[in-house]
Amino acid sequence: MDLNAPFDLVAGWLQEHALLPILYAWDLMQWEDISYGWALFAVYGAAQVVVTYAVCLPLEWWRPVERWPDRKAVTIDILYTLISRVGFLPLITFVAFYEIQVSLNGFLTDHGWVPPTLERLFPFLLGRQALTFFLYVVILDFSDYWRHRFSHMFDWWYSLHALHHAQRQMTFWSDDRNHLLDDVIGFVWFTVVALLIGIPPMQFPLLILLLRLLESLSHANTRLSFGWLGERLLISPRFHRAHHGVTAAGLKSVNYGAILPWWDMIFRTGDFSRAFVETGDPTAEEALASGGYLTQQWVGLRRMLRELWGRRAEARHS
Ligand SMILES: [Zn+2]
Ligand SMILES: [Zn+2]
Repeated sequence: MDLNAPFDLVAGWLQEHALLPILYAWDLMQWEDISYGWALFAVYGAAQVVVTYAVCLPLEWWRPVERWPDRKAVTIDILYTLISRVGFLPLITFVAFYEIQVSLNGFLTDHGWVPPTLERLFPFLLGRQALTFFLYVVILDFSDYWRHRFSHMFDWWYSLHALHHAQRQMTFWSDDRNHLLDDVIGFVWFTVVALLIGIPPMQFPLLILLLRLLESLSHANTRLSFGWLGERLLISPRFHRAHHGVTAAGLKSVNYGAILPWWDMIFRTGDFSRAFVETGDPTAEEALASGGYLTQQWVGLRRMLRELWGRRAEARHS
């Protein structure tokens, strides 16, 4: 049986009954072909949420790090996850990436240049798809380590990222708890890297799906460690929790990696010693922890603008 058939079916239904009427009404029928791709990756995204739920929920029940009498703060993270995985990520990782790559490659070819790919750089990768896919993961993860580290280094950027750290009730839903602007920056960052190494447009959203699945697990509220060696091969909930620890919030954090702990080991930001610490950021506005979706977005943006303007005013007066 074709594993993809049920996804195709749902995506086709979604396109026909939800997307095409909107495109038609707004006179946007040139997007018809692409809208199917978006629908397909939205269905993949929804399926991924179901898989994440099925894997992480038993783990959180089995060995929770913390128990809360009231889990109200978790609800908002569920909303973040649905918006991001079903709406935003398929839209930008498939539709936007596809459009950008097609026009960039067209531009390069018109000017007599050949678009860059990893296989052209390392010809031994030709025909070795699994290895190439693995290298894409390693390279994207390496670039994500630096994106994340910079987001702690620059105060204006941390103003947005503080929303991710403000959560005191961290669960597997917390991975997508990000400021929309931070998500956009992350997408631009990933896209540049993906274009430089020539990730094909159908593989890019799949890679992001895979990476985000593991990232969800790393946020789970569970006493799960992969053992001495395992912790050094793949990031565990224990390892990422140390990054969210109240003692590590803000600029002095540790464990910036998302999938592979190797970069933290190489650049000496890894801390394998911390046990299951409390999470949150005591320096963040309370609204970032317990406010509604729009409030959190607004407070993050305001904090960033203040940071940028405050800096400029300071520079003018000195
Ligand atoms: Zn962080
Ligand atoms: Zn996190």
